Amino acid sequence: MRYSRVVYSKQPELSSPSGYLDRLPSEWAAVLESMGEPPYRAVQVFRWIHSRGVVDPRQMTDLPIRLREKLREVIGVPSLQVVGCLQSQEDATRKFLLRTKDAWEIETVLIPMAKDEVEEDGEGEVPQKSLPFTQCVSTQVGCAMGCAFCASGIAGLKRSLNAEEIIAQVWIGRSLLAPQQRLRNVVFMGMGEPLANYEALARSLVVLTHPDGIGLGKRRITVSTAGWVPGIDRLGKDFMGEVQLAVSLHAPTDELRTMLMPINRRYPLGELIDALRRYPLPPRRRITIEYTLIGGVNDSPMLARDLLRLLRGIRVKVNLIPWNPIDGVGFQVPSEEAVESFQDILCHGGIPTFRRQRKGADIDAACGQLALKGNARRVRIPLWVSTSLKPRNASP
Ligand code: SAH
Repeated sequence: MRYSRVVYSKQPELSSPSGYLDRLPSEWAAVLESMGEPPYRAVQVFRWIHSRGVVDPRQMTDLPIRLREKLREVIGVPSLQVVGCLQSQEDATRKFLLRTKDAWEIETVLIPMAKDEVEEDGEGEVPQKSLPFTQCVSTQVGCAMGCAFCASGIAGLKRSLNAEEIIAQVWIGRSLLAPQQRLRNVVFMGMGEPLANYEALARSLVVLTHPDGIGLGKRRITVSTAGWVPGIDRLGKDFMGEVQLAVSLHAPTDELRTMLMPINRRYPLGELIDALRRYPLPPRRRITIEYTLIGGVNDSPMLARDLLRLLRGIRVKVNLIPWNPIDGVGFQVPSEEAVESFQDILCHGGIPTFRRQRKGADIDAACGQLALKGNARRVRIPLWVSTSLKPRNASP
């Protein structure tokens, strides 16, 4: 009798791994084979690193000692180092400042999930006494999108992170959780535009969702984009719409959106909305629309009604986020009444609309300010100090 194999999901084509944290079991098998080891060890190594969170080969106790020795040469210096931590006084949010090998600073944030978020999230079976966390990760040092209200945008793009550096943030984040705390969601909402760094993003998604590793469900991962249309199409196709898509809209008209988000010139609202309609959304799922409310700029009832019209017929939910002030940027936070009436209009129009608390607002957890400060210091280094902008060669 012949069986046909059911193919549940096709893995996207990936470029080569950048280190040991972003290597898949099949790629470990090739490395191990070249060392004269049987390929079945690959899953063991992958599990040690990603499922048990162990990168010191000496602790990989079910591997032969000779292999542990050899692995010490393959598993090198970690690609990120924790150089700072800020703990919110208001909640359990913790923000970590991480330094790359070439001394750029990025940040990742661990945020406790609110009860309503866990419920809204579906699959409400949170084991008792387990505290679910969301981790917010960065995909670039700075950002090229140049959004007028965002600290990372103001900093500009320094470089993209590789897949190893993206995964390292989650690896580190998970290792810093207390025993009763659980990593439940990962959101690509830190510094950078994830879809402008697609190769690294795709590899990190495949590794993070691998069943022998951390095994995060695809729906537990949110990729947030400023509206990079080709990336939205590619993500939809490669991951069959299963990765949660969030789109930072922030304005319902082209004129206003272009003022706030220069990317709107390249991919105007019409094209962006068409891409959202094409996104292969699984049944009962919704695209998240992020809308940062800026006082007197995009928070009027008229704009709320425009937004309602724009989103008609697309399965979305809207997250309203009050603007988080940034030094030197002349915008205002929205008034309480403006936020409330904006939410009312959308809800009455039939769009599930949530207000996002500014968790960890006291530690600037909502935007790239902390890392911005560190990197800004670096950018002031005169170019003539070094022919490259590599900080190791530059004076402090
Ligand atoms: N580049 C991606 C992800 C990074 S930003 C994107 O644009 O979606 C994550 C979210 O935070 C985006 O919706 C962004 O517009 C928003 N944001 C950035 N700075 C903010 C600020 N100062 N206050 C409130 N929201 C902000």
